[in-house]
Order: sequence, then C-alpha cells, then structure tokens
Amino acid sequence: MRFELTDEQLLIQRSAREFAEKEFTPEKGRECDEKYEFPWELFRKAARLGFSGVSLPEEYGGQGLGCIEECLIAEEFNRVDSTLSAILWDGGPFATLVAKFGSEEQKKKYIPRICKGEIVCAMALTEPDHGSDAGMVGLETTAVKDGDEWVINGAKTFITCGDIAECVAVCCQTDPNAQPPYRGVSMIIVEKGTPGFDTNSLKPKMGIRAIPTAELSFDDVRVALSNLLGQENRGFHQIMSYFDYSRVPIAAGAVGIAQGAFERALKYSTQREQFFQPIANFQVTQWKIAEMATKIETARLLVYKAAWLLENKPDKRRLITKFASMAKAYAAKVAKEVTDEALQIHGGAGYVDSDIERYYRDARIIDIVEGTGEIQRYVVARESYREIGFSV
Ligand SMILES: Cc1cc2nc3c(=O)[nH]c(=O)nc-3n(C[C@H](O)[C@H](O)[C@H](O)COP(=O)(O)OP(=O)(O)OC[C@H]3O[C@@H](n4cnc5c(N)ncnc54)[C@H](O)[C@@H]3O)c2cc1C
Repeated sequence: MRFELTDEQLLIQRSAREFAEKEFTPEKGRECDEKYEFPWELFRKAARLGFSGVSLPEEYGGQGLGCIEECLIAEEFNRVDSTLSAILWDGGPFATLVAKFGSEEQKKKYIPRICKGEIVCAMALTEPDHGSDAGMVGLETTAVKDGDEWVINGAKTFITCGDIAECVAVCCQTDPNAQPPYRGVSMIIVEKGTPGFDTNSLKPKMGIRAIPTAELSFDDVRVALSNLLGQENRGFHQIMSYFDYSRVPIAAGAVGIAQGAFERALKYSTQREQFFQPIANFQVTQWKIAEMATKIETARLLVYKAAWLLENKPDKRRLITKFASMAKAYAAKVAKEVTDEALQIHGGAGYVDSDIERYYRDARIIDIVEGTGEIQRYVVARESYREIGFSV
C-alpha cells in the first residue's frame, strides 16, 4: 500500500498551491463575493497555465490528466480561497459530458475554447419542481422533433454559470412515455442567443457568489437535431456516469475549504490572547483543533481512495458510485463542521468582516449541489444492500 503522490502529482500540487497563493488575494476574494463577480481574468490566467480542462483529452486542448490531479488542484485552490476557486466551476460538467459522449464536431467546437478560458458552459438538469427526483419522475422540460430541429419548452433553475454560459447542455424529456421516465431523457445543446432562450441571475445567494447561478426558460427554442449530446434517451445515464466522476473533485474542494479554514483557526488561536494567554493554551481549543485535523484527514483519505478507484479500477462501476457518494457526503459534512468550528475559534472576529465567514458560507453548497447529502447517503445504502443481494 502506497500513500505517496508521484513526482508529477507533487509538481502539480505545488504549482496549484503557488498559483493560488500568488493570485488569490483575500481582497479579490472579498470583492468577487461582495459584487457577485466572476473572476474572468483569473479564470483566463489559470487556463493559460493548464489548470482548466485538467482531465480533458490533450487533442482538444486539455491536460489529459486524471481524477487525482483534478482533486489536487481543487483542494489547493479551495484551501487558499473558497470564493475564487469558483474558476474551477467553469464549464467542467459540460466539457466532460461533451468529451465523453459528444460528436467529433461538438468536441472540436467547444472543448478547446473552454480549455483556453475563452468561454464557460453549463449543464441544466434541475427544474423548479424537480431537484432530487429530476429524471426519476419525468422532466417538465420537453424536446420534440420537428423536421430537422428539436423544439424545446420548459424551465430550469439553480444552473451554475447559466447566465454567462456560451452554451448549455439541457436535459429534456424526449420520450414522454418512457418507463421509468429517466429512460426518455436526452441532453441537447442550446447556445446563448438562440431565440426563445432566456436567463435570469438568482440573487441574493448565501455563498459561492463569484460564480453565477441562474434560472433558464425555453419558449419554443429551436435547435438542430445534431445538437443532441450523446445518445437519444440516454441523457440521464450520461449524467449519472458524469456524477460518478465529478462528485470526487467536488469533495476534494470541500477538503480544501476545511483545510483553509483550519489553518486560519490554528494561526488565530496562537495570536488571540484572553485571560493573559493565547487561546491555543486552553484545552478546549486544542480539543477542537485535534477534532478538525482528524476529520479533514479522514475526508482526504476517502476522497483520494475514490479518485484512485476511478483511475485504477474503472470496471468496478458500482464500487466507484458508492465511493464517490461516500466521499462527497463525508467531505461536505466535514467542510460544514470545520468551517463552523473555525469561525467559533475566531469568536466575534470570525462573524464580522472575515474570510472565515466566507469559507463558512461557501462550504454550505457542497452538501446540496450535484445531489444532496441525503441522496448521497441513499446511494451508499443502496449499494451496500446490493452487495448482500438485497434491494432498497
Ligand atoms: C448554487 C447552486 C448551483 C447549482 N448548480 C446546478 C447546475 O449547474 N445544474 C443543475 O442541474 N442543478 C444545479 N443545482 C441544483 C442542485 O443540484 C439541486 O439543488 C439539488 O439536487 C437538490 O434539489 P432541490 O434543491 O430541488 O431540493 P429537493 O430535491 O426539493 O430537496 C429538498 C430536501 O429534501 C431532501 N430529499 C429529497 N428527496 C429525498 C429522498 N428521497 N430521501 C431523503 N431526503 C430527500 C433533500 O435531500 C433536501 O434536503 C444547483 C443548486 C445550487 C443551490
């Protein structure tokens, strides 16, 4: 059993750390948070240095690396600034789906521009009335064929980058009679500016304010049949296979947020004096520090085990699904708990005008996005029961 990273992975980790420590200033983080501003300049700079499209194929401008490398970057970026690391939410879902399921034309059209930091793209599954059950009970956004076009009607909500995206992979019900309904879901690419397609930015928002969240509406939106992404009526399957991957780097980001908050609390506890001594001297503080450190390390081990499985045991699909959900559920919980405790160690200074309160707010999304903590636990339980031949 080996716990070490390879020399190349260590280099990537160090480069990501150096880039973030140089470029992610607290002032910039606070400004983007306050103004709900996407850090375009940072996004482009990071892309130029190869921090975009880390796991995308090299022939389309990606780095051709794996999940472990993507996790290392997500962890380092989030450690330094939980808000500015939003640049990693660039167009990842869209690009990964296109790389895996798209046509050659779609790959050539979109992936190089995403990798260069020219555009961001989005993926839209969630609807106003369908979140956790999206796809399972039938989507209200429909796409029907009319000659050589799809005609899309419906609405999506909570879509990351929805209003700044060059294009969106929209999950539509294309077979209303499919049973179960998810067997009738397809993904269709809609580009910005297509008549009938509209967006609305959602504010106020608790955290991750540097990355916009939007609702989308489709009113008789017409796109070519060739805008189908992947196979017709296999869209839900495609998304689930994407989640098996994406939940792991997201969990790594949660570990990074927890680590960043922990390091700040550790330092602050040595500087803040009460009762004529640093608060680090109090056993209660030490106990909190020990608990935080242990939780972070446990989450990190789980995340990297999941990433390792993805890279080394691609045929163990069910195990990968279970570990990806375990890693995301646990790392999200740890990020919530550790940022909360880090804020507590800062006392009033943590609540007012501090970076810790941003970490606390930014961490909260991880237990919701790409499947809530409850849904992740359901997946873990389902897979555990399946292993003993019982179906839940
Ligand atoms: C900032 C942000 C960005 C997002 N980005 C995207 C995006 O880019 N694309 C996209 O498609 N979606 C996106 N989402 C949507 C996100 O994936 C959903 O919010 C999430 O899946 C939960 O759906 P919901 O909000 O409708 O909650 P609901 O499904 O209504 O759930 C409400 C509560 O009920 C619980 N619950 C639901 N079903 C069960 C069950 N069977 N058992 C136990 N508990 C259950 C949930 O866990 C939750 O606690 C984003 C959301 C946010 C907030």
